[in-house]
Amino acid sequence: MSKTILEPSAEAALKQETSSVNGTMSHKMSLKGGAFITEETSYQNVFVPEEWTEEQLMIKEMVQDFCFKEIHALGIEKAAMMDAEKDMDQIIAILEKAADLGLCGLAIDEEYGGLGLDFNTGLLFGEAISVGFSFATTIGAQTSIGSLPILFYGTEAQKQKYLPKIATAEYKAAYCLTEPSAGSDANSGKTKVTLSEDGKHYIMNGQKMWITNGGFADIFIVFAKIDDDKNLTAFIVEKAFGGISIGKEEKKLGIKASSTVQVFFNDCPIPVANMLGEREGGFKMALNILNTGRIKLAAGAIGGCKFGIGRAVQYAKERQQFNQSIAEFGAIKYKIGEMVTRTFVAESAIYRTGANIDEKYEEFIKEGKTKGEAILLAVREFAIECALLKVYGSEVVDYVVDEVLQIHGGMGYAVETGVEMGYRDARITRIYEGTNEINRLLSVAELGRRVFKTKELTLDSAYKKLPLHLLKQSSPIKFSGDDSFAKERRIVKNIKQLFLVLMGAAGRKFREQLEHEQEIVMNLADIMAEAYICESALLRVEKLVKEKKGDKKELKAKKRMLRLYLYEALDKVRKSGNDLIMSYATGAEKRVLFFFMRVLTPTYHINPKKLRRKIAEYVVEKGDYCF
Ligand SMILES: Cc1cc2nc3c(=O)[nH]c(=O)nc-3n(C[C@H](O)[C@H](O)[C@H](O)COP(=O)(O)OP(=O)(O)OC[C@H]3O[C@@H](n4cnc5c(N)ncnc54)[C@H](O)[C@@H]3O)c2cc1C
Repeated sequence: MSKTILEPSAEAALKQETSSVNGTMSHKMSLKGGAFITEETSYQNVFVPEEWTEEQLMIKEMVQDFCFKEIHALGIEKAAMMDAEKDMDQIIAILEKAADLGLCGLAIDEEYGGLGLDFNTGLLFGEAISVGFSFATTIGAQTSIGSLPILFYGTEAQKQKYLPKIATAEYKAAYCLTEPSAGSDANSGKTKVTLSEDGKHYIMNGQKMWITNGGFADIFIVFAKIDDDKNLTAFIVEKAFGGISIGKEEKKLGIKASSTVQVFFNDCPIPVANMLGEREGGFKMALNILNTGRIKLAAGAIGGCKFGIGRAVQYAKERQQFNQSIAEFGAIKYKIGEMVTRTFVAESAIYRTGANIDEKYEEFIKEGKTKGEAILLAVREFAIECALLKVYGSEVVDYVVDEVLQIHGGMGYAVETGVEMGYRDARITRIYEGTNEINRLLSVAELGRRVFKTKELTLDSAYKKLPLHLLKQSSPIKFSGDDSFAKERRIVKNIKQLFLVLMGAAGRKFREQLEHEQEIVMNLADIMAEAYICESALLRVEKLVKEKKGDKKELKAKKRMLRLYLYEALDKVRKSGNDLIMSYATGAEKRVLFFFMRVLTPTYHINPKKLRRKIAEYVVEKGDYCF
């Protein structure tokens, strides 16, 4: 993290005269990644999932139908017992059938045999395919990490040679970054290449680990170091080149029907034309590809949530105990209300970001960038949001699968319902595409870099708007929700301001050492995530209400979810803020920071029990996740 993360200091900011906390709201949509924390966005400028076109919804339905027909039709118990080692032929057959429908070439441009879908529709695909259980990981590796490096960084010849065959699944693809000694610290990999004496081939030696699709892949995107290079370089490696051996399928906790193996390279000869991108450009490439994967993972996570909620609601309606359906118990309504709300707010932020990425892409195209450059830059722009959403989405799905299982009681523990499979499968989402710890750290570090190093973002105006006038107030503000959303907007703004106050204070204290205070950085990441999630949910509901999208009952349910979530977010923010302040602050600084905390996170007067019950009753009446 840059040394300058500390400036402007909170002290300097405290000296500044401030304008009202209700500063003018920008009605211009900001297409700057990370700017959500310093700026406000108008509801007119966000995409909401209620705006999916017929065509996009048809793609979603087609993908889900495919999963029902090819995977669920096997029987849920059989699907839950599938295993990459014994069922590899079947997994390959499903991948090939998916390719026949065009599903392996969604992101690939039409000129290379794909469908060339926009980014947000790609996210919707990720949500839809998640009902295919482990298969979502298999096709995810094919369509994302296994092929996007070629699409974004390949030469014309490389694209022509590989992409059409990936789109038809004639080539199955895998991505080899991780090694036994290089996981989160991916750039420390030991896999080496040296140029052959005749200069025609790179000779690769090394070992990769945890490689999805590795058991049957024909091509591998492999990251390795040339000679004594400091940074990785990427290569397109065909299994047919020789010198590659594949380890046994890993025995895993979940996603058992996805292939995960070690891959060994023993004097593997790679034609020089198969270097991908620039020499030593591999690490940057790996990070950029992971940025796209992170938000896709979040979309997949909410797909899993929706499916699980549907199962839980159906079961709760049918299951009778004490002469009534368990869906009528307050304890079960609590769970349903919570699961639905968290899924709804996460979804709001994911597709808002996806649409922003698409708009940014168009901006870059207008500037004359190539398609590959434009999409990479657009996703890169929203790297902070992608990291936060990866963390948030994976933690929501883990919460949801746990509660779905709990609602099923003993039946949730039985393989025959498939619920335990969902519980096991979801756990990986907190580990791959960068662990949640790494993504939390990265989101704050990236914000610091943009503010203080590249100056892409400016906190000045945000600091000027610090609510210093609140120091003169003696009692917290009381909120009560109403239809103007003024109070809700204020909560969101307060969370952002609290983040800026705490980030400034911690930065001033630790300076360049802040990156070593990981607990504090993670507190900051959690507050920043809540700011983004709350704002996205607010803008979605505000847009729906003001533009009268949806029937009255549905809108009411959505408003309830917004209010319930803001209430809960304030609690989470208080907890993170308390932890942060208690971890280092003393004396006057501690008192001032706690004062800000109290004033910026006052009680939001809603009735959480009533809201959860109403939300749950609405969903139970509909019989499924229905938003
Ligand atoms: C089923 C599965 C499929 C996978 N598929 C692929 C694939 O297709 N291709 C591929 O290349 N890789 C793949 N991976 C690898 C995956 O990306 C790594 O497991 C992940 O990046 C974490 O690396 P690691 O397992 O070595 O954990 P480690 O890096 O050893 O981390 C262990 C723990 O330490 C924490 N930690 C590490 N460094 C820090 C730090 N600086 N600060 C704070 N905490 C830290 C982590 O957050 C984690 O909690 C897959 C993994 C699994 C399990």
